Amino acid sequence: MRTGVYPGTFDPVTLGHMDIIRRGAKLVDRLVIGVTTNPSKNAMFTVDERMAMMKREVADVSGEIHVVGFDSLLMDFAEREGAGMILRGLRGGGDFEYEFQMVGMNQQLNNRIETVFLMADVALQPIASRWVKEIAMFGGDIHKFVPPGVNADVIARVEQIGRKGS
Ligand code: ADP
Repeated sequence: MRTGVYPGTFDPVTLGHMDIIRRGAKLVDRLVIGVTTNPSKNAMFTVDERMAMMKREVADVSGEIHVVGFDSLLMDFAEREGAGMILRGLRGGGDFEYEFQMVGMNQQLNNRIETVFLMADVALQPIASRWVKEIAMFGGDIHKFVPPGVNADVIARVEQIGRKGS
């Protein structure tokens, strides 16, 4: 059985992530979505919230998909999950530099696990969780960037913590 791990922060999950998940699920028998539990400075959602959102959104994606939190080294997590590959999405030059270095180092930590890069649909490539949060915090419309359920979650969170700007 071929297992792949797709790791990320997913704060929140976007249509870009969903596209990579759909494409990735076709490449493996079992896809493990690894949600990093290390808190980021600009986190809008807790790990539990991010995992719950992800589980809800992947419910209708075909294939065996698991959502698992992890706070260890990615390569150790992938090894524990019995994965033969790590899936990452590539958006452009900026991602490339970062990923190039990370894969180079990860290869030296574990040469058994390959990293495979996927490109999202061209229209979805510019989407980044960071900008989704920024736009929403200023009251902008994010419905083109995230699944409908996530749109509602983000709007509710922004109302809770208060919008930026006036
Ligand atoms: P991280 O915090 O590790 O960057 P993210 O949750 O932002 O995690 O992203 C997880 C993965 O999804 C990364 O490989 C990232 O490059 C990829 N990704 C995010 N948004 C897109 C997108 N719009 N198109 C393609 N890949 C994407």
